[in-house]
Amino acid sequence: MPDLIKVAKFGGTSVADAEAMKRCASIIEVDRDKRVIVVSATSGTTNLLSSLSETEDPSERLAVYRQIEQKHLEILNNLNSPKETGNNLQIVLNELREKITTSEPYDIRAMDELLSFGERLSSTLFTGLLNDKGIDAEFIDARDIIKTDSEFGHAEPLVDLIRKKVTDQLVPKLKTKRVVTQGFIGSDKNGTTTTLGRGGSDYSAALLAEALDADVLEIWTDVNAIYSTDPRICPEAIPITEMTFDEAAELSFFGAKVLHPATLKPAIRKNIKVYVGSSIHPNQPGTWIVKNITQKPIIRAISLRPEQTLITVHSLDMLHRHGFLAKLFQILADFNISVDLVTTSEVSVSLTIDTNQKGMHKRLSPEMLLELEKIAHVKVERELALIALVGNNLDSTAGVSGPLFNLLDSINIRMICHGASSHNLCFLVNESEATGVVRKLHEHFISKKVS
Ligand code: ADP
Ligand code: ASP
Ligand code: MG
Repeated sequence: MPDLIKVAKFGGTSVADAEAMKRCASIIEVDRDKRVIVVSATSGTTNLLSSLSETEDPSERLAVYRQIEQKHLEILNNLNSPKETGNNLQIVLNELREKITTSEPYDIRAMDELLSFGERLSSTLFTGLLNDKGIDAEFIDARDIIKTDSEFGHAEPLVDLIRKKVTDQLVPKLKTKRVVTQGFIGSDKNGTTTTLGRGGSDYSAALLAEALDADVLEIWTDVNAIYSTDPRICPEAIPITEMTFDEAAELSFFGAKVLHPATLKPAIRKNIKVYVGSSIHPNQPGTWIVKNITQKPIIRAISLRPEQTLITVHSLDMLHRHGFLAKLFQILADFNISVDLVTTSEVSVSLTIDTNQKGMHKRLSPEMLLELEKIAHVKVERELALIALVGNNLDSTAGVSGPLFNLLDSINIRMICHGASSHNLCFLVNESEATGVVRKLHEHFISKKVS
């Protein structure tokens, strides 16, 4: 067995084409501790597969298949892969083609099965590439290991069962070889394919790291590091060299796409260090996420989550009565709606719902609103964005809210949540104003502090 066990996950852009895959293979080659390799679908493939749900026309479905086929055959050719890899890829492609030649509408269960092909194709190519390079790597189907409940589209992992599968099936192999598997996909107790939600490969890698008691979880992506805000929306964003689990967990929960929101949960449970780095520039310093560090700024980073909906319910019944909130949350629970932020006044409650989440628009149905209207007057505001300042001791530090309100004096802030966590202060603004707000806050709270 090697001295350390590292689980390394490579995201969609990192395996987008033959050149990108070769870069990842080199990262693996130079470090024999990277024992478990988790790959995402090639960039854009999950979106293509997802578009299959939008049409029942067999020829349109076939056109989607053709694009996916062409993309993967091109990688195969550009890698000069041996025949065996070509055969393995063809088996998966044939299976996909068979699955799409139906004009039935796809339900959410069928969609999970279809979505799984993205990771199955990329991992087939990538295993072939590693073996071709002389790295002894075995392809493992993640659905045999990542066991989940049957919530198709955003399944919940069954951690104890995953540990057992890892101990029985993965650990013995790791003594002599590396293992390549897929992110994002798993299976329920009937063996039916499930997915962990979009961007879920980070979470898969973290679950495997937890079950293996790994020393390090590595997330190789298309940015050098985790930045003080999304570098795509704010060019002044600064790379973070070190941050705590708590900070990173809040940042991903509040919208930083660089990590799936649940990634830190397994890492925190087992105190596994997480490294985020670029597969394009692997020698550039990335971000280390650890349990504790000495330098804990008040504001470390700013996140933005678009497509938020604010529901405000107003009822005089709330006044000096008990049970109203219980009724309200029961209705939301009955419709499987999870709430992020809540504020209340004497006679009204405002709450936010992440309509960016798959399926949430559907769940926010007229029937659900009708139920709410039975107990209160209901107002729904859409196209809002949630902005979070993420850092430390925000609940006990003076001097943040003053400048914040000054900076945003011309902006309509729809809701503020502050105090529940020492790691965040968040608020809602109109989606159209959100990037401007993030840039302004970044300049004041982060750029100025480091210059
Ligand atoms: P992968 O395919 O490797 O999983 P993702 O696209 O899911 O990559 O995540 C990387 C992207 O996350 C970056 O390209 C960047 O635009 C976005 N992002 C959002 N917030 C941040 C942040 N604070 N730091 C770095 N990247 C961020
Ligand atoms: N391929 C999946 C997606 O695009 C999972 C991932 O990339 O993490 O959402
Ligand atoms: Mg991702």
